[in-house]
Amino acid sequence: MGHWFWSQVEKKEDGCWLWLGKEVMKGRPICTTPKGKKVQVHRLAVLLSGRTIPYDHEVHHQCRKTFCANPDHLVVCDKGTHRWLHQKMQPKNLTI
Ligand SMILES: [Zn+2]
Ligand SMILES: [Zn+2]
Repeated sequence: MGHWFWSQVEKKEDGCWLWLGKEVMKGRPICTTPKGKKVQVHRLAVLLSGRTIPYDHEVHHQCRKTFCANPDHLVVCDKGTHRWLHQKMQPKNLTI
């Protein structure tokens, strides 16, 4: 399932799967499903990897690359935790 999706990522040496689509909404890449629905790429990557996103939860990029669609780099967290994660990420911690 989701071949149309995974065929649009480029697997980089650093482990990131870069989304190749150009469509962006609010600074985040979106894709169009075969059914014509527009979905945020990172959310769909999580769902296609077999995980669920509970209501009011968001998907965080551990690698900090907005265009990365590697499910291993994506963390599902609630909004509070997400905000905390971003506050924690200072520029000096760029390599985490
Ligand atoms: Zn990544
Ligand atoms: Zn985040």
